[in-house]
Amino acid sequence: MEPGKVVCVGRNYAEHARELGNPVIERPLLFMKPNTALVPLEEPLALPQYGGICHHEIELAALVGEKLSRADSSAAAEAVIGYAVALDLTLRDLQKELQKKGHPWELSKAFDGSCPISPLVKKGELDAGNATLKLSVNDQVRQQGNTRSMLMGVFDLISYISQHFTLLPGDLILTGTPAGVGALNPGDKLFLELDGRFHFSTSVL
Ligand code: ZN
Repeated sequence: MEPGKVVCVGRNYAEHARELGNPVIERPLLFMKPNTALVPLEEPLALPQYGGICHHEIELAALVGEKLSRADSSAAAEAVIGYAVALDLTLRDLQKELQKKGHPWELSKAFDGSCPISPLVKKGELDAGNATLKLSVNDQVRQQGNTRSMLMGVFDLISYISQHFTLLPGDLILTGTPAGVGALNPGDKLFLELDGRFHFSTSVL
C-alpha cells in the first residue's frame, strides 16, 4: 500500500496544550503532512538546518485501509488496519513565528523527513484506547502518556477528520502528543515505547 497523506491533530492531550501555553480547544485542530514527510523511524534522523529548535512529539499513528468519507466512529474503527509510533517533528521557533503572524504551519511541520514512522503493529495487537506511549532521549524519559488521556479518542478523531477530508487506503492519522515535548540535538539517542511491548530506537544525525 502506497503511503498517503498524514492527517495530524494538535492539542489532543490537555497537558501538552498547557505546556505550550495554548488553550485547550473544543474542536480538534487539524493539519497535514504530505507523504514526502514520511521516513523510517529507525534510520538516523536528519533535522533541517534552518528554523531553530526542532522538537520531538511522540504520537500513536493509525493506518487507514479503506476509503472513508463522513464515516461514523465504528466505520472508522473497522477501517483501521494497524498502528505505528510516529514522531511529529516540529520546528518550534519557526512554528511560533508563523502562529504569531496567523500563517499556516506547514514550513515548521511538513518538511521532508518531518514524520519518522515505525514499522506497523497489527490492529489486533493493540488496544488503541488504552495504550501507553513513552519517549526517552539519552536515557532520560521525556514524554509519557496513555491514549486514555486523549481529548478525542482515535476512532472519534478519524470519524471527525472524514467529515472534512476523504481518507484513502494508505493514509495515516497522527493522534496528538502527550506532555513533555522538547528539543532534539545532533547525536541524541531516542528510545520509543508503545504499550510497554513494542520498542523502537533511533538517533539524530
Ligand atoms: Zn503533534
